[in-house]
Amino acid sequence: MSEFLKGLIRDIPDFPKPGIVFKDITPLLNDSKGLPEAVSAMAEPFRGKVDTVLGIESRGFIFGAPVAIALGVGLALVRKPGKLPSDTKQMTYELEYGTDTLEIHTDAIPKGGRVVLVDDLLATGGTAAAAVDLVSELGGDLVGASFLIELGFLPGRGKVSPVPVHSVIRYD
Ligand code: AMP
Repeated sequence: MSEFLKGLIRDIPDFPKPGIVFKDITPLLNDSKGLPEAVSAMAEPFRGKVDTVLGIESRGFIFGAPVAIALGVGLALVRKPGKLPSDTKQMTYELEYGTDTLEIHTDAIPKGGRVVLVDDLLATGGTAAAAVDLVSELGGDLVGASFLIELGFLPGRGKVSPVPVHSVIRYD
C-alpha cells in the first residue's frame, strides 16, 4: 500500500454525524502527484480486462472518468434517483436507518460487457452491492470493483463477494 497516498487522506472525527470517522480525500485530490498516482493504482489490475468503467455518484465519478481514460474504455454512471434522463433501472438497498436507491440507464452496459465498478471508498458495501445487482440485471459481467480506500473492519468486501475487490489503501 502507498504510504504516500495514505498521508494525503485526512481523518475528520464525528463527520457527518457523531461516531463516524470521515476519510477526507480532498488533500489527495489537491495534490499534483497524489491524484495521478491514485488513478493509476486503481486502474492497473484491470488493464486490458474490461470494456466499461462504472462510476458511482458522486466521488466515484471523480475517479471513474480518469480510470476509464487510463484503461482506454468508456464510462457508465450509477446515479442517485431522478438524475438520469433516459430509461432507467433502479435498485433500493438498506442503510443503517432506512433505505437508499440507485439508478442506471438501461442501455449503459451492453449484454456480456466486462465492467469494473469504481468508487472512492468501500465501507459497509451497501452501495457497491446495489451497483453489482444493477450490472447483473443488465446482463453485464462484473469483473471487479476498484476503490481508493477500503475500511477493512467493515463487511464491505464480503457484501460485494464473489466480485473481487481491489483497494489501494486499506484501514484495518
Ligand atoms: P457503503 O455503502 O457503506 O460501503 O458506503 C460507501 C459510500 O459512502 C462511499 O461512496 C463513500 O463515499 C461514503 N462513505 C462511507 N463511509 C465513509 C467514511 N468513513 N469516510 C468517507 N466516506 C464514506
